[in-house]
Parts: sequence; structure tokens; C-alpha cells
Amino acid sequence: MKYNYFLFDLDNCLLYIPNSKDYFDNILLETLKQGSTKQIPERSERNKFWFSGNNYIDYLKKWGTNNIRDFWKCFDEIDFEYRKILVQKNEILLFDDVKSVLEEIYDANKKLAIVSNSADYIVDFIVKKLNINKYFHYFFGLSFDKDQSIAKPSPLGVLSVLEKLKYDPKKEKAIMIGDSIVDVYAAKKANVSACLIRRDKNKYPDGYGAWEYNPDFVIEQLNEILNF
Ligand SMILES: [Mg+2]
Repeated sequence: MKYNYFLFDLDNCLLYIPNSKDYFDNILLETLKQGSTKQIPERSERNKFWFSGNNYIDYLKKWGTNNIRDFWKCFDEIDFEYRKILVQKNEILLFDDVKSVLEEIYDANKKLAIVSNSADYIVDFIVKKLNINKYFHYFFGLSFDKDQSIAKPSPLGVLSVLEKLKYDPKKEKAIMIGDSIVDVYAAKKANVSACLIRRDKNKYPDGYGAWEYNPDFVIEQLNEILNF
């Protein structure tokens, strides 16, 4: 392994979330219902929210949600409740290949971290509950009282993790592994390698050619990173 730092996305990279799109849409719906939203938007409109980058605030405002901090606080609380139930039922779980791969990288004395757009306390709960916390040197998650613009595709999460782990780009190499375009963008903007894992073969039917930043590697199985 030529890389010294392995940064992982959590949701749908290490952690399997069944019907992920519906899962997060449902949380969005519940959050809007509990908030000050005047009219619940249609699913097609809600779908655009997820792909709007930092313009997501415009959608929330349009829907009558003006307090962004409260929105994320409520969203994270619902996400946390659902996850606790689904982890308990073994419906949210690690992909089969995760533990052995993490262990091998850890045993090779590499540095491992998670860079997630989920709430930091949810990341903390998941890694401890699923017993993978011992492999990681750092976890990065968001929080309703942090600036949401640091979320991937911003490189700030990746950069802050690398800084905490004392990464020296002159001597060392880092790679970010994730299942989404935002993982690739965050990595490339932070000047590290990007590896897209195709957990869902239908996710990007048009490929990656039109992306502003392209993945350096595209893999289907996590153990492929052991050759990196
Ligand atoms: Mg993901």
C-alpha cells in the first residue's frame, strides 16, 4: 500500500443503509412536518434539495423553513432515532467486506479516518455500536451548530482531518474512499486521491465523464484498496 492515509465516507461506503434515498427523504419529510413549513413539497422537489449543494438553504426558505440550525438539529435527531432502531434490527449494518479491510490497513500502520456528512454524534454511535472505532484515528462529522458549508463537497472536512493527523503532503499520500460525487469532489479539492466505490451499480448511470472532478479509482469491492 503506497497510501499512508485512508479516509472513508461512512453512509453507503462502509455502512449499508437500505433504500437510502427513501430513508433520507423520509427524514426530510418528518423534519419539515415538525417545523414551520407551510406546504410540504412534492418528492420531485425534495429530490432537488439533495442535489442543490449550498443552495439547499434556498429550498428550505422557499418551503417556509427559516431557521436552518433548528432544521438540522431536528433532522439529525430523527436520523439518530431511526438509525438506533435499524441498527438494533440489523437492517443498517456494515458491508461484509468492511472489518477485514479496515483491520488489514490498520495492521499495516496506516492512518484511518472517517469524513462523514452525518452528525458527529451519529458517526460516533455507529462506529462504537458496530465495533469499528478501534481502527480509526479520527472521525469527522457535522453538527447543527457547525457551519454546514463545511460538508462535502467542501474539502474542509478532509483538510481538517489530515491536519489533525499531521499529514505531510510532501512525504505522504492520502486517499478518500466514498460512494458519492461529493466524496470525489471533497478529495480532489483537498488535493488528495479519490476512490469511488460502486456499492450501488445504478447510482451514476451516465458515468463520471461530465463531472468537474473525476475519481482516480473506481472500485466495486472495498478490498481493492488493499492494492493501493
Ligand atoms: Mg456515502
